[in-house]
This record gives sequence, structure tokens and C-alpha cells, in this order.
Amino acid sequence: MTSILNYHTETEIQQAVDTSRQTFRSGYTRPLKFRRHQLQQLWRLLDENTDALCDALYKDLRKHKNETILGELIPTKEEINDALEHLDEWAKDEKITPALVNKMGVTCIKRKEPKGSTLIISAWNYPIFLSFGPLIGAIAAGCTAVLKPSEVAQHSAKVITELLPRYLDSKAFLVINGAAHETTKLLENKWDHIFYTGNGTVAKIIMKAAAVHLTSLTLELGGKSPAIIDENANMTVAAKRIAFGKTFNAGQTCVAPDYVLVTPKAEPKFVEAMKKAYKELYGANPQTSDSYARIINNRHYHRLQKVLTENQSGEVVIGGQSDEKDLYISPTVIANVDRDDKLMEDELFGPILPMIRVNDVDDAIEYVNSRDDPLALYVFSSNKKFVNKVLDSTRSGGALVNDTLMHVAEGNLPFGGTGPSGMGNYHGKHSFDAFTHERATMIKDLNPVSEALMAVRYAPYTSTNLKVARVVLESVPRFKKNFVLKHLKWIVIALVFGIGYKRFA
Ligand code: NAD
Repeated sequence: MTSILNYHTETEIQQAVDTSRQTFRSGYTRPLKFRRHQLQQLWRLLDENTDALCDALYKDLRKHKNETILGELIPTKEEINDALEHLDEWAKDEKITPALVNKMGVTCIKRKEPKGSTLIISAWNYPIFLSFGPLIGAIAAGCTAVLKPSEVAQHSAKVITELLPRYLDSKAFLVINGAAHETTKLLENKWDHIFYTGNGTVAKIIMKAAAVHLTSLTLELGGKSPAIIDENANMTVAAKRIAFGKTFNAGQTCVAPDYVLVTPKAEPKFVEAMKKAYKELYGANPQTSDSYARIINNRHYHRLQKVLTENQSGEVVIGGQSDEKDLYISPTVIANVDRDDKLMEDELFGPILPMIRVNDVDDAIEYVNSRDDPLALYVFSSNKKFVNKVLDSTRSGGALVNDTLMHVAEGNLPFGGTGPSGMGNYHGKHSFDAFTHERATMIKDLNPVSEALMAVRYAPYTSTNLKVARVVLESVPRFKKNFVLKHLKWIVIALVFGIGYKRFA
């Protein structure tokens, strides 16, 4: 498909990099008033261009307006509201109680300083939220940013490119369009922070480029997120929520449940509940439902088709239909898939749900732990012991009990992966933190009295100085302190009796 996007030239890329750096150095983006105004402008951009944004997403992904508003616009606006409400508090210096060594005439603070000139590289599946979400963090923190939207969601990238300079200050926030070549050019420059969302293979390229300048990174990646189902769970509710998570944006969601782990006993009940759930969501033929999105492009369509045709095991129990011209793949469930099937190699990132039979919860946990740490882990059960066992014995970026996707919408929870599913996190205050350097700052006076008291630290070193220093600076070990406090009652009683005995004996 020919691109409707104009990629930027190398000269334009360099200009954007230089502008971003110079603007940051000038201190232009630091005042809270400036940050607040830019956040308000970003909110207006979203509010005044809802139709244009929904239209772009429809063209890119055949996304229903409801999905765009619920999955992209509202969450982004909520992030802005949160930042506006808490900016003063987040950006305020944090006072720290000094340790004994610094008690005299010292103030210790964590200064919340913007990291600097930053690069945001976004992915195509939620092109608005994944571009503006990190941008909100950069603005709130007082950074400048160059945003590189994904060229894959080209209509969305085009509308972002047109709108951003109309609302935000172009000296501080710039958009660069392009694919691997243009991103490589951007990455050749020194940034103060790089925020990348996308797949793990490109993440390694980003990390190598960042290593050249020792630039800090946030990597928002993906992985195969499992859903573990207790055979005693309410299958109707569990299936509806898994069906929702698996087909929102046609499964092209980083935290979509990738596969299900279920016992052979529960499998038929779960399959029946999934059939019912999909029918309720998209009718008998999902291709005719305007609520069901499409695969982003031919490359991803063929990737999914290949996985479907190359899988060696399992039985398609729901769906299995596809239509290349329409980039349509139906909601598909494949039961009894082998643990090492092709379907279980890479993140599926589409509406195909393999089911793997497990003997019990221990077997499910062992399988999850034999793989890379996923971005999300879902567990469906009303049994606390079952849930806790899963949570205590596994690792993942985030975890959600008895639902899918919804933890991402909770702005106060950090969102990010662990190991191959990502590094660092964002959302809410975490976005501000991702773009902020906590500068440890100690402010002392030049008072001769405190100077005299601290003179024991200076050479020439003597044993007297060491004794004085130990008396003044060495505190009681915490565990001994606890012992004294714990037994204080008995110590007091012993002392009272001891003194009494001595006096009257
Ligand atoms: P993509 O193809 O849009 O690529 C992401 C970005 O990387 C784009 O801006 C692209 O231009 C750039 N890029 C591509 N090749 C490059 C190269 N060789 N050098 C430098 N830059 C390059 O998106 P994708 O990678 O297909 O996204 C899907 C993946 O992202 C999935 O694994 C998904 O789970 C993950 N994802 C994660 C999150 C999250 O928040 N954790 C969100 C969305 C998607």
C-alpha cells in the first residue's frame, strides 16, 4: 500500500532534534504554567477533533467510534486531567529527613527535574494513546519531545502530524514521520530519554542506540499474556471478559489474553461460554458486525494466517474464517493445542485464542514460568487460595484477577513489563516519573559551629577522632533497638525491683 504520509527528510529530522535540544536548554519548558497550558491544549486537541481522530482510526483499523473513544480518547483525556490536577504536587521538591551524619544545618531535597530532550517512538495499535500517553508525561515533567508516530497506522499519524502544531508549542513538541530509516536517523542523536513502544526485536535496536550515549530508556513491549482459569470459576462471566479482551481492536492489544490454560474437565464449559459470548458481542457473522475491527495491514494478516495454517495441533472450535480483501480474521478459538505448537511461539497479536490443557493450577503455573515473563497475567477464580497461589508463584508486568485489559485503564497503577515484556512503566504519576530525574540535593550552611562539630572527619586521622565520631554518628542497630523496645516492660520491672531490693535489703 502506498503511504499517505510524508516522511521527513534527514535535514528536517536534524532540525527537529536541534530545536528540541535548544528549547530544553533555554529553560522554556520548565515553568509549571507552560506545562499546564500545553496539557490543556492537548486536551483541547482531543476534544475538538474527536471526529477526525475517530475517522483516522476507522481508516487504519476499521475501529468502531465507541472503541476509539473508550480505548483511546477517554483514557488520554483522563491522563491529562490527572496530570493537571496533581502537577504542583508531583513537581514539588520533596524534603527528606537527613541522617545523623547530616543533622546540623542541612536541608535535603529531591528536586524533580525534567530529564531533557526526549524521543517518543510509538506503535500502531493504539496510535493516539500510545503517542499522547508518553507525551503527557514529557510535558508534565517539563521536557521537550520529538514524537515519532508509527507509520503503520498512517491515517492516525497524518492527523497527529496536522493537529499537534496547531495546539502545542512547536518549539518544544515536534512530530517526525518515517519508518526504520527515519527512526534510525533520530536514534543516531543523543537524547536524554527514549520512550519506545513496540515489539521486542526493534527494542533491542533501540537499546543498542541508547547504549551509545548511555541514554535512559522506557521500553513498553508485549509478550504472550496467559489467562489461567479455575475449573470452578463462573464460566459465563470469565468467557465474556476473555472474549472482550481478545477481540477489542481485533486482538491487536499488547495486553490481550494470548492463550488460555484450562483443565480438560472445564474446557467444554468454557468453549460453550465463549461461543455464546462471541455471538452476543458480534452476532452470528462477525464480519458483518460494525463493532469488529480489522487487521492493520496485509503483512500482519498474512502473519496471522501463517500461524493458523502452520499450527500442528488442536481443533478449531470457534471461527477460523478469514477474508484477505477485507483483512478480516474471525474470532477464533483453538482447543487442545500442544504446548510447543507454532501458535505458542510468538505473541499472536490478533483474534486467535489457543487453549492449552493443564492438569491443575500447579501445571498451569509451571507452564507460565517456563516462558518469558508476560506483560499481563489473567486469573479467573473466586477461590482466594487459587488466586494467591498463581500470583505468588508467577511473574508478569501486571496482573488482573477476573477480568482482562481493565488494569490498564487504572491510571494510578504503574503500567509496564518485566524482562522481555518491558522496562520501566508509565500512566498517572508514573508517566511524570518516567520523564523526571530526581536530583538528590543537599544544601548546607557555612556555620563555624557545624564545621567544628564535623571536624572529626578530616585528616589527620586519630584514634580520638574515631572514638568521637563513633559516639556521635553510630546509631543503635535497628534490631537491637527492637529488642529493647519489645522487652521494655520487663526491663522496667527488673530495674524497679532491682532498685527496690538494693534500697531495702
Ligand atoms: P510498529 O511496527 O508500529 O513499530 C513500533 C515503532 O518502531 C514504530 O514507530 C516504527 O517506526 C519503529 N521501528 C520499526 N522498525 C524499526 C527499526 N528497524 N529501527 C527503529 N525503529 C523501528 O509496532 P509493532 O512493533 O508492530 O507493535 C506491536 C508490538 O508492540 C507488540 O509486541 C505489542 O505487544 C507491543 N505493544 C506494547 C505496548 C505497551 O504499552 N506495552 C503497547 C502497544 C504495543
